[in-house]
Amino acid sequence: MYTAVEDEQKTEQLIELLKSNRTAVDDVWIFTENDGQDFRYVPIAEVRRRAAFIARRIRRLREEGFGASINVLNTIGHSDYADPFLVPLPWGGITGPDGAVSTCCSCPREPAFLNYVREKYTAFAGCDPDWIWVDDDVRMFAHYWNVMHGCFCDLCLTEFTRRTGKEWKREELYAAIVRNDYPAINPDRDAWMHFLSDQIVEIHSLIREAVHSVNPRIGLGGMNTRFSAQSAYYSRFPDRFEALRSSPDREIRVRPGGGAFTDERPH
Ligand SMILES: [Zn+2]
Repeated sequence: MYTAVEDEQKTEQLIELLKSNRTAVDDVWIFTENDGQDFRYVPIAEVRRRAAFIARRIRRLREEGFGASINVLNTIGHSDYADPFLVPLPWGGITGPDGAVSTCCSCPREPAFLNYVREKYTAFAGCDPDWIWVDDDVRMFAHYWNVMHGCFCDLCLTEFTRRTGKEWKREELYAAIVRNDYPAINPDRDAWMHFLSDQIVEIHSLIREAVHSVNPRIGLGGMNTRFSAQSAYYSRFPDRFEALRSSPDREIRVRPGGGAFTDERPH
């Protein structure tokens, strides 16, 4: 986690620990943010400051013979926890069906946010990691608590209207997507779910372009969201992870997410 990485003494302690367990370690991941309050939007100036530290730590790990990679913990944002203490988003947050706006999770169609994503991954690619991992906050649901799912902001509704050729208001769209057409497929819900998942796939493509514009040798990995929540929208994991692959012969990596952190009790 980032704070420990910035602290030289903690870094050296960690390296000693790793050296004493060398056979159990093949790649060391540096997380770009901490869990807790440092889990959300980080302004680009601070991203670059952290990248300078991380680059040094990566060189240090390599000197000791370890692989060194980066996990970008915050892209869209995981949740609104601790928001009174955090830097507010400089663009629109994810908007829920009731018009509530997330304070820490970005609307993934905001042009300024997409520029930020490009700059952030460009900065971390400059640290020369072996791999860059995308965390599981790149999702359109479970952004606790202000907004659980979205995005129903004006920008997103305008784009959905353009793609479907039908004018949509927030309340009317929400009523349409929760309408029960069973056993038939609800075409409005189907179009909305594809709209959301397209955006997630597009962000993964943007990340790949940003990273490989700096160094095409950097590997890319994705983290899935918990399987019990897949039905919340069309997760399209294969499309997302394929978007991280620049050519068919390229290896990509995938890991479980959403709390699947132990083998004994994955969920
Ligand atoms: Zn939006």
